[in-house]
Amino acid sequence: MVQRLEESRIEKPGLGNPMTVVVIGAGLVGTLVAREFCRRDCKVILVERGPDVGLGVSKANSGIVHAGYDDEPGTLRARFCVPGNAQWSVLADELDIDVQRIGSHVVAFRREDLNVLDELLARGVANGVPGLRILDQAELLQREPHLNPSALASLWAPSAAVTEPWQLVIAATENALENGLELRVGEEVTGFETDNGALKAVLTTKGRIPCDAAVNAAGLFADRVANLAGDESVPLRPRRGEYILLNKFTAHDLVNSVLFPVPGALGKGMLVTPTVDKGILLGPTAEDLPRSLKDDRATTGAGLDKIVASARHMIPSLDLREAVKVFAGNRPESPGKDFWITPSPRWQGLVHVGALRSPGLTAAPALAPWIVELVEKSLDTKLALRTDFQPRRKRIPSYLKELSLEELEKAVAEDPAAGRVVCVCNKVTEKEVVEAIRRGARSLDGVKFRTRALFGECQGGFCSHRILHIVAKELGVGEDELDYGLDGSWVVKGKVRP
Ligand SMILES: Cc1cc2nc3c(=O)[nH]c(=O)nc-3n(C[C@H](O)[C@H](O)[C@H](O)COP(=O)(O)OP(=O)(O)OC[C@H]3O[C@@H](n4cnc5c(N)ncnc54)[C@H](O)[C@@H]3O)c2cc1C
Repeated sequence: MVQRLEESRIEKPGLGNPMTVVVIGAGLVGTLVAREFCRRDCKVILVERGPDVGLGVSKANSGIVHAGYDDEPGTLRARFCVPGNAQWSVLADELDIDVQRIGSHVVAFRREDLNVLDELLARGVANGVPGLRILDQAELLQREPHLNPSALASLWAPSAAVTEPWQLVIAATENALENGLELRVGEEVTGFETDNGALKAVLTTKGRIPCDAAVNAAGLFADRVANLAGDESVPLRPRRGEYILLNKFTAHDLVNSVLFPVPGALGKGMLVTPTVDKGILLGPTAEDLPRSLKDDRATTGAGLDKIVASARHMIPSLDLREAVKVFAGNRPESPGKDFWITPSPRWQGLVHVGALRSPGLTAAPALAPWIVELVEKSLDTKLALRTDFQPRRKRIPSYLKELSLEELEKAVAEDPAAGRVVCVCNKVTEKEVVEAIRRGARSLDGVKFRTRALFGECQGGFCSHRILHIVAKELGVGEDELDYGLDGSWVVKGKVRP
């Protein structure tokens, strides 16, 4: 809904002092844009409709920091992938997140695929990708001894990395909060209020937020949010990607780098990759869904069968009995196949950011400062940089993995919760869970993404009830009031017996 739509644009906005910016959507883009605004002299409010940050597209994807050879020169994807890739190392250092530069191969199995490797190499060189090289069969199989020996050659990209995108979403949010961000979760943007060509307020399910500027970073729903402002958008259609995750204890020695087949009409194809946690990830499929199914993240038998066939072709010795989880995520596809990032043609101070298909995760760190510039240009202003911005943040320490025995004894003497193990698979203590709650976790997923509890071999089978109990106790609510992740995903519905 748009209130008081006015067609005329004003010369200069009547900016408040300091200016207020509302960022809509707490995925990778929204949280990095919010952090970027926090570097500047302005008030920043991040509004997320979900119960926590990072539960949209940024939660379920391949987690690959792409090298950048895949994107056609001239696209926003090509322009921002390579610099975004480099920025991930800066962010890993500043925000204490995992980024492992293990490199990637595009593997050719057929003679005609060799031409594709040459094309990707030329495109990568044009895009400025460092260190790209074609490897012959001998070198490829020496680097990846478990690869199907019928592989002929590969395009090797040493700058490709693996990460866990939710780590960055959480870290960027925590760091932005330290620097003054106001975070409002569980609040959906429902409209805009404008006056004489300028943005006046963002309207939400909880009220009205007066502001001078806003960034629509609503992911799969950026088209809907643009329409709320009366702006046309490229239509965003969900393209489902299903995955299988293999157990880290038995499978991880089989693959050293990210292994892609040659790309096809629907994208980069199904990969086999080590995860930062030493598991192996297989997938994703690519299946177009109707626009009404943007929130549908179901896996399917047919999809999982395709993954198994493709993964077995790449690594014949993979033991699929080691699967610990299947999941799916939806890409925000648009007809133009490029990111859709544009200032509102109607309202000064409003910028839309949508259609962040792959490599959106890779590009997001480089996109964020550019999006801030677009807002500044749209308002014909330049925000002053703060001298007191603190760029660093530390993750929750792992007591059992990081402390020496002496240090652990001391920590347990100070707080016995540091010695109470709640997740045996990933050695997570009660103290870490309590710290996660202090930092914003309100559900099992909230704890999982902040501590790695529930993320191990048992996937919560043995520990979810204990963690649920701790969360309920810390928050002073009943266990039946808590969700696993998204609203309504209850874990305990009520008592079986009175
Ligand atoms: C299967 C798959 C594989 C991928 N693999 C890779 C990869 O390996 N490498 C890579 O670089 N990229 C990859 N991507 C792309 C990458 O995941 C996305 O580009 C990125 O996560 C997009 O982040 P976002 O912030 O735009 O969206 P999101 O993470 O979806 O964030 C948008 C947020 O806006 C919120 N929101 C929506 N509407 C409203 C509203 N009205 N009010 C308030 N909040 C709202 C949502 O709840 C959501 O949290 C992949 C994507 C998929 C689906």
